[in-house]
Amino acid sequence: MTASATVSASAATLDVDVLVVGGGIAGLQSALEAAEQGRKVLVVERQPSIGGRMINLSKVFPTLDCASCITTPRMASAAHHPNITIRTYSELGPIRREGPRFTSTLRQKARYVDEAACIGCKRCEEACPVFVPDEYEHALGARKAIRIPFTNAIPQTAVLDMDHCTLCGLCAKACPTDCIDFLQEDAEIPVTAGAVILATGHELTSMAAKPEYGRAALPNVISPMQAERLLAPHGAYGRVLRPSDGKIPDSIAYVQCAGSRDASLGVPYCSRVCCMYAVKQAMLLSGSLPVADITIYYMDIRAFGKGYEQFVASARAMGINFVKAKVARIREDADHNPIVRIERQEAGGTVEEVRHDLVVLSLGMLPGADPEREGFAGVLRDADGFVRTPEAKLSPTLTDEPGIFVAGTAAGPKDIVDSIQDAGGAAMEALRHLRSNGLEGRP
Ligand SMILES: Cc1cc2nc3c(=O)[nH]c(=O)nc-3n(C[C@H](O)[C@H](O)[C@H](O)COP(=O)(O)OP(=O)(O)OC[C@H]3O[C@@H](n4cnc5c(N)ncnc54)[C@H](O)[C@@H]3O)c2cc1C
Ligand code: SF4
Ligand code: SF4
Repeated sequence: MTASATVSASAATLDVDVLVVGGGIAGLQSALEAAEQGRKVLVVERQPSIGGRMINLSKVFPTLDCASCITTPRMASAAHHPNITIRTYSELGPIRREGPRFTSTLRQKARYVDEAACIGCKRCEEACPVFVPDEYEHALGARKAIRIPFTNAIPQTAVLDMDHCTLCGLCAKACPTDCIDFLQEDAEIPVTAGAVILATGHELTSMAAKPEYGRAALPNVISPMQAERLLAPHGAYGRVLRPSDGKIPDSIAYVQCAGSRDASLGVPYCSRVCCMYAVKQAMLLSGSLPVADITIYYMDIRAFGKGYEQFVASARAMGINFVKAKVARIREDADHNPIVRIERQEAGGTVEEVRHDLVVLSLGMLPGADPEREGFAGVLRDADGFVRTPEAKLSPTLTDEPGIFVAGTAAGPKDIVDSIQDAGGAAMEALRHLRSNGLEGRP
C-alpha cells in the first residue's frame, strides 16, 4: 500500500478543442471524427470504462453482429488516438460560457488505485474476499469489491468500491506494483473547450414502473439488459438459465411497451428500439434453445429502419409467436413461474392467463442526463426530458446553446446506426463552429 499516490486536487487545466461528455458509441464516434481532423478532444465518462450501453449487449440488430466486436475496436482507437484524452470515472460540473470558449471542472473520482502503476493483472480481484452484485451483469452475477470492471474494459485499471470494502488489505498484499492507495482522493481538474458535444446517452425505465408487472420482485421477470447478459457468450451464466433456480427455460415471453407509450408513467413516447431488441433477443434465444416456445406480446411492432421489416419477417419464419395482446398483470406461482394475464386484441378479445418460465419486460428509454439540472450552459431539455434540438429537421445535432451539440440517445431514443450518424454530424458541426469562430488550436 502506498500513501503517496493521492491524486492532486489542483491538476493543470485540460485545454481542448472539443469536449465530449459521455463515452458510449456516440461519444466515441464524435471524438474519433473530430480527432481525425486534427482537433484535440477530451472524452469524459462517468463509468470506470468507456463503451456505454453497447459494450453490454450480446449481438446487434439487424445484422446480428457481435456487439463487443464492433465496440471494442472503436474504444481502443479512441484510447490510442494521439489527439484524444479520455477521463473515466469522472463527472463534469456545470459548463459555462466564458467569452468564445466553454469552461467546466472535471471531478475524477478516486479509484483507490494508482492508474499509472496498475497493470490490470487482477491479482487484487482474486485476493479480495468481498462479493457484491455485478452492475455489468445487471446483478445476475457477483463481482469483488476491487475489480477490473469487465474483460475488455478501457482502461484496464482496477477500481475499488469503498462502499463495500472492509479494508482487510488483502488486495494491497497481492498487488505486484504496490499501487493500491486507500487514501486516494477525488481530483478536480479545470477544463476549457472551444466546442462541446453532449453524448450522455440514455437510461432504462424502471422494472417497477408498472406495479401490475410485479414491482421488480419476481425473480423470473427480468430486464432486457439481463436478457442481453444471458445471451452474451461471456455473460454471467455463460448460457440461458432462469435466475430463480438455474432451469433452462422452455417458454419465454416478451412484454412490449413495458415502460413506453404510457403518459401515466411520464413516458408518452415510443422508445423506438424495444420492438427490435425484443425481436433480436427472441431470435437469439430461439437459436440457443431450439425447442423453447418464444412469444412476443405486442400492441404494434415498430420496425422503422433499413432491413428491419425483413428482420421481423425472419423472426416470424423462425417460429417466434407474435401475439397482439395487452398484458394486464404478471404474477407468479409457487415455483416462481410467471403467469401473464393477457387481453387479446384479436381473436375475439379473450382474456387468458398464460404460464411461462421466463418473462422479459421491454423497458423504454429515459434521458441519461438532464441538461438543465447539470447546468450545461444554455442547453434546454425537451418535453420528454432529452436534450432539446430546436432545428431537429434541418440540423438535428444543434442545441439551444451555440457551440454545444448533441449526439446519439442524449437527444432521444435511437438505435446504433442513427446514433453513429448523429455522432458524425455533431463532430462536423463542432468543427464548423471552431472554424467560423476562430477557435482552432488552443490558447
Ligand atoms: C436492451 C437493449 C438492447 C439494444 N440492442 C440494440 C441493437 O441490437 N441494435 C441497435 O442498433 N441498438 C440497440 N440498442 C440501442 C443502443 O444501445 C443505443 O442506440 C446506443 O447505445 C446509444 O449510444 P449512446 O452513445 O447514445 O448512449 P449510451 O450507450 O447510453 O452512452 C452514453 C454514455 O454517457 C455516459 N454519461 C452519461 N451522462 C454522463 C455525464 N454527465 N458525464 C459523463 N458521462 C456521462 C454514460 O455513462 C454512458 O457511458 C439497444 C438498447 C437496449 C436498451
Ligand atoms: S481491502 Fe477491500 S478491496 Fe481490498 S481485498 Fe479487502 S475488501 Fe477487497
Ligand atoms: S493487483 Fe495491482 S496492478 Fe494488478 S490489477 Fe490490481 S491494482 Fe492493478
